[in-house]
Amino acid sequence: MVNLKNNKTYNFCAGPAVFPEEILKKAQEDLIDYANTGTSILSISHRSEEFINLADRAKKNLRDLLNIPENYEILFLHGGASWQAAMVPANFLSDNSLANYVNTGHWSSKAIKEAEHFGKIKVIGSGLDAAMNLSGWVIDKKAAYCHCTPNETIDGVEFDDFENLPESDVPMIADMSSTILSRELDLTKFDLIYAGAQKNMGPSGLSVVILNAELLERANKNLSTMMSYQVHVDADSIYNTPATFSWYLMGEFLEWVKKQGGLAEMGRRSLEKALMFYDYLDHSDFYKNNIPRAVRSRMNLPFVLKDNKLDKLFLTEASKQGLINLQNHRSTGGMRASFYNAMPKEGVEALINFMKNFEKQYA
Ligand code: PMP
Repeated sequence: MVNLKNNKTYNFCAGPAVFPEEILKKAQEDLIDYANTGTSILSISHRSEEFINLADRAKKNLRDLLNIPENYEILFLHGGASWQAAMVPANFLSDNSLANYVNTGHWSSKAIKEAEHFGKIKVIGSGLDAAMNLSGWVIDKKAAYCHCTPNETIDGVEFDDFENLPESDVPMIADMSSTILSRELDLTKFDLIYAGAQKNMGPSGLSVVILNAELLERANKNLSTMMSYQVHVDADSIYNTPATFSWYLMGEFLEWVKKQGGLAEMGRRSLEKALMFYDYLDHSDFYKNNIPRAVRSRMNLPFVLKDNKLDKLFLTEASKQGLINLQNHRSTGGMRASFYNAMPKEGVEALINFMKNFEKQYA
């Protein structure tokens, strides 16, 4: 990690991702004295009025931002998105039932592996074809649910044409970890969405679940307590001690998104940043992104250098200029720039400028 004298570092990490600076500054103060309580935000009780107020405010802000209908429950849970990939089948799948999964990349496959512990899985679409043609998904009438991952964080594939989802009574479930709150969403197309907070709306370890009350009625009853959505709904996400500080940070992040202009503005900004970057890549013979335009991610933009022997030098030089965390996941190699909600346009411009200079020097 670099620590530049002028402190201008742009962090392109795919998660935990960059936070708006004003939140960090406020958190610094609240770590010492939260809301004139004379005690740190770290030490206020999860049963205190102060915490219940902030928890309710976070929930209300999320409801407003995503326009979540009243018949959907909102949960803030521990364990990140991976825990949700297990909670979903634990609650809605059993030995003699079947779930449909769409496999568009790394995180879809992990969710599939997890679900295989709980029941039968049928993969109803894979790869770019599945991402480009939602109406082609053939959902089994008897499936307990259909699961998809609208933004593949590692593969850089994203789809959002949910109006093309096939007509079906089967509950639709989505892992929205790396796209939630980055654009407007018609939530009614889904019966359950879950997301790790650490990209567009908060710190790692915390996950958000938004689920239709009708789906909840179908949940398995014979579950360990911490795995049961019903238990967490009944306890308003405070069955046990919640991740209080993470919840607080997420609350601040949601306020920030609201203040910036909500999801319409997040959508405008994410499109602007992504188009600027892809436009540069597409006009360069030195860098390349191979994903078809229709399903290129706005959030995670992978690219490769013409000669991968230059990868190490590219990363070192970028880091010297305060452009950090540009290496893609260890499973794929190459580069990836993540432009989540808190990445300013200036960060993308700085990255493009650096890449232009690097290209000039080494092409
Ligand atoms: N799903 C997606 C789409 C992700 O990007 C990630 C994390 N990068 C996960 C699931 C796993 O999240 P967590 O580490 O919070 O379990």
